[in-house]
Amino acid sequence: MCYAIPGRVVSIKGQIAVVDYFGEQRTVLNDNDDIQPGDYVYAQGGILINKIAEKDAREILGFWKEKFFELKKIDAQYSKLHTSGEGELLRILQRVNVKQKLNNEEFIYLLNLQTKEEQSLLFETANVVRQKEHDNACCVHGIIEFSNYCRCDCFYCGLRKSTSQKRYRMTPEEIISAATYAVNELGFKALVLQSGEDEWYDEEKLVTLVKEIRKLNVLIFLSIGERSKALYKKLYETGARAVLLRFETSNKEIFQNLRPGTNLEQRLDLIRYAKELGYIVATGFLIGLPGETEEDILNNIMLTKSLGADMYSFGPLIPAAGTPLEKEPLGEKSAVLKTIAVTRLLDRKAKILVTTALETLGDNAKKEGLLAGANSLMINVTPPTYRDLYIIYPKHGKEVKKAIQETIDLLYSLGRAPTDLGL
Ligand code: SAH
Ligand code: SF4
Repeated sequence: MCYAIPGRVVSIKGQIAVVDYFGEQRTVLNDNDDIQPGDYVYAQGGILINKIAEKDAREILGFWKEKFFELKKIDAQYSKLHTSGEGELLRILQRVNVKQKLNNEEFIYLLNLQTKEEQSLLFETANVVRQKEHDNACCVHGIIEFSNYCRCDCFYCGLRKSTSQKRYRMTPEEIISAATYAVNELGFKALVLQSGEDEWYDEEKLVTLVKEIRKLNVLIFLSIGERSKALYKKLYETGARAVLLRFETSNKEIFQNLRPGTNLEQRLDLIRYAKELGYIVATGFLIGLPGETEEDILNNIMLTKSLGADMYSFGPLIPAAGTPLEKEPLGEKSAVLKTIAVTRLLDRKAKILVTTALETLGDNAKKEGLLAGANSLMINVTPPTYRDLYIIYPKHGKEVKKAIQETIDLLYSLGRAPTDLGL
């Protein structure tokens, strides 16, 4: 099984390599000294991960050759406007088509669209932009949820320290073995290591983890919350190359109310620091927090952009049992889809993730997210013994091979190919 298509390096200038996928070229970062033009490589998240033998690459590309062009045709069919519009909406979207920048009022207008028809036109327009900017490339990352202990008490989260759920910690050996399975047996090229803010994993344990998992030739994303800058620096030096850390909301007051003992500026400072260190940064926010307005959502998108996010990660609030927000309404799918679409229009080249939280809002949500402008997915590869214990919010765990097959079927049906999105 393979989720990434190998590419051929066509040129290297300093740390920048250009990789060709059947004639389509993407720019990636390369810190590997022995890569030469002509080599076959895997890249993920805009980073060159490893070289593969020409013979193996040719075999894999042999399978992909026809499929790749067949998929492009399917994607092109989807990337058209099928719905018509009129009035203010049409005027705004016509400006998008000629690459004019929209103003805040216009973005708010789009975030407020109510009718199915108007929303469809917005989603289709965003999907056209996605196709123009990224073609049919789609990243598929794996996620291992390795501990549900957390020292924080975020009001929205089922893992907050005050909930009484059963806790677990995977040992470093278990995590390495889960990563080895995900890479060697399942074919993942990028893995998110996620947990509550759990200091049991000290520098020594995390360094061991990163060192061992890096040997598997995989892009490591850290999603371990607000740990020290020194730790993030050390883990970068050890080989981690990406960080998933949301700022959650750009609204200071809401942040302060929902994340006792922490503050927005400090979290933003850490995200900026990770970026400075050279990490690929995935960040974003929750949609549907109490008191939030469309203006807040627009500010959230803009803040994500201004942080220089390499990937947008945002999803709906799913009320979790035992938390102060358990009685809040479930996040609305249409609000998330509109946010994806507006993000695509505001930041045309963005990499936008369909998050697992969005997927919980209905069987079709993943597909709808991809058709509203998103181009990246995550599959849960946490071992079955622990998966059901990681309850940030209620979700339906699927057996991993089944989840992978369903994802591949979906990508093929939409004409998306698992190539790297480039820098
Ligand atoms: N502890 C780390 C990583 C795990 S939490 C951290 O906080 O960064 C990962 C994400 O889950 C959080 O960033 C938050 O946006 C999201 N989350 C928490 N509770 C949620 C809920 N009830 N519904 C949807 N997403 C939630
Ligand atoms: Fe802990 Fe992250 Fe949940 Fe906050 S969101 S309680 S930091 S796991």
